Parts: sequence; C-alpha cells; structure tokens
Amino acid sequence: MGRDLTDAHRRASLEVHGLVKRYGDVVAVDDLSFTVFEGEIFGLLGPNGAGKTTTIRIAMDIFKPDRGQVSVLGHPPGVAQDRVGYLPEERGLYPDLKALELLVYLAELKGLSRARARENSLVWLERVGLAEWATHKVKALSRGMQQKLQFVASLVHDPELLILDEPFQGLDPVNVELLKGLIRALQAEGRTIVLSAHQMNLVEALCDRIVLINRGRAVLYGRLDEIKRRYASRSVRLRTPAVVGDLPGVVDVRRRDGMLTLTLGDITPQELLRVLVDRGIPIESFEVASMPLEEIFINVVRGEEHA
Ligand code: ATP
Repeated sequence: MGRDLTDAHRRASLEVHGLVKRYGDVVAVDDLSFTVFEGEIFGLLGPNGAGKTTTIRIAMDIFKPDRGQVSVLGHPPGVAQDRVGYLPEERGLYPDLKALELLVYLAELKGLSRARARENSLVWLERVGLAEWATHKVKALSRGMQQKLQFVASLVHDPELLILDEPFQGLDPVNVELLKGLIRALQAEGRTIVLSAHQMNLVEALCDRIVLINRGRAVLYGRLDEIKRRYASRSVRLRTPAVVGDLPGVVDVRRRDGMLTLTLGDITPQELLRVLVDRGIPIESFEVASMPLEEIFINVVRGEEHA
C-alpha cells in the first residue's frame, strides 16, 4: 500500500514493521507497519485512542513492543537517541530553571558542547519569539510560551529525526503559523519530521506522506496527494432548490449555505448526475469536489466502525 517505485531507493529514518502492543486486554497497536523516509514530513493520524502515542513511545524506547520491529535511524529504539528529537504528548519542563539554562542543560545532555548548546539555544529562543524570556524562570511563561519552549527543547541539539506528538496543541493561530514555518524550515535543512496531529488542515499543509491509524491498524498509508486523488471522485457538491431525498449510492449528505456535499459510495459522479436529471431535480450547480482530508479521515474511520 502507498509505496512509490522510487521508495526502494530512499533511506528510511523510521521503520515500523508488524508492531503489536497490548495493555492487558487492550490491543493498542495491532500489526502496524509503515516507513518514514529521510527528509520528509510524515503525518501520524488517527482518532483518539488509535495507538499513535503508543507507537511513538515504542520508537522512543519508553515501551517495549510485544511483537514486531522498529528501527530508528537504522538502529533499534534507544541506540541513536542523541540524533532524535522528541516532543512528548505530556508536557512538562523544570519550572524553576530559567528558559536559557534549561535549553543549554538539555542540549548538553544530548552531547553538545557548552558553547554550541548556548549558541543554539539563543538562536532558537529568537526564532520562536522568546529571546526576551531567556533569563526568566519557566514557570513565569504562559502556557503557549512553555509549549514553544518545549518545542525548542526537543530540537536544540540539532536532531536528524524529530518526532512531535501533537505540536500544535494549545497554540494560538499566530503561533500555529510560526510553528508551521519552523517545521518547514527544519525539513528544508534536511531533517525528517514525524508529527501526530488532529488538525487536518495543518496536516494537509505540511505532510508529504501519512499513515492513518484506526484501532491500532493502518487504514490509509501513502503520499497525501495520491490519497487525495484517490478520493477526489468520491465527493460531489450540488446546489439545488429542491429536496433531494434518498439517493442511491450516496453515503453521506451535508448541507452548508444551501450547498449540499454528497459523499459517494458505489456510484460515480456521472451516474449520480443521471439520477438527478432522471428525477427532474433542478440543478443550479454540480461539481466533483476534492475531498478535504478531514472528510476522508471521517469517512474511513466511520466505514471501519460499520465494517
Ligand atoms: P490520542 O489521540 O487520544 O492521544 P493515541 O492515538 O495517541 O490517542 P494511544 O495513547 O496510543 O492512542 O492509546 C491507544 C490505546 O491504548 C487506547 O485504548 C488507550 O486507552 C490504551 N493505552 C494507552 N496507554 C496506556 C497505558 N499506559 N495503560 C493502559 N492502556 C493504555
């Protein structure tokens, strides 16, 4: 599923193969496989409880899998830790340390010299707009500022692979834009970024490839543009003054501003148009629409629930 021919020649930064993780009776991850290639922004998506954080924690060597293999920069989890950056889902920084002190400390822990750690920390505080907070204690920063500081803490040691669990959580729109720009800049520097996020518009704006996980399994995997193309003919936008009633092959109807968005099951847009014409329904506009990732996500996950 979702592999380019050229993928065979790309270097993998993260490889997950046949991963299984149980917590008691709960199967959190259920035979999950995917590959993240060097230099891409990869989205780890899925509804709450899908198994994203569990997968990330296994890659970070926090949990051991019950079965399967995970390879991080070509090594088992834990081996290349200094070359990996990690923003955990649960936030928490040392509240009594000053912002700059904290960053320097963390960068040194990951092997940077004091001078380099300080230089990087100052550059990054500037980049996220926290330069004037360098000598303030962490606890004096607002929640959003702490969130940005934690983002910086995950990458101040110049990691090749950056794993961000919900990086946009709790940020205002201006800071979301800032972070988006920084993530793109990190990719332009040649780094690999794996991010889990619930905001599909951000995933659409950033990710090259994605895996959509549901109940611990991959239900969509591959290049985002290919996935969107695959679903392009599955959605139709229709404007009509008439009440359309039940339509064959239409699995979902949403009405917004007098416009209907129809999600198609086993009917093509052409066939649907014929049905509408045959029924004498007046059509003001009819358009085959590209389906936003959010709708693809909802449709796939709902489809699984009914399977
Ligand atoms: P969210 O989007 O809500 O953060 P997620 O995709 O990150 O969800 P996980 O946190 O990996 O999902 O959880 C997957 C499943 O494993 C859920 O059913 C969850 O209740 C369960 N689970 C996760 N961590 C533990 C744990 N430490 N002990 C027991 N069950 C757990």
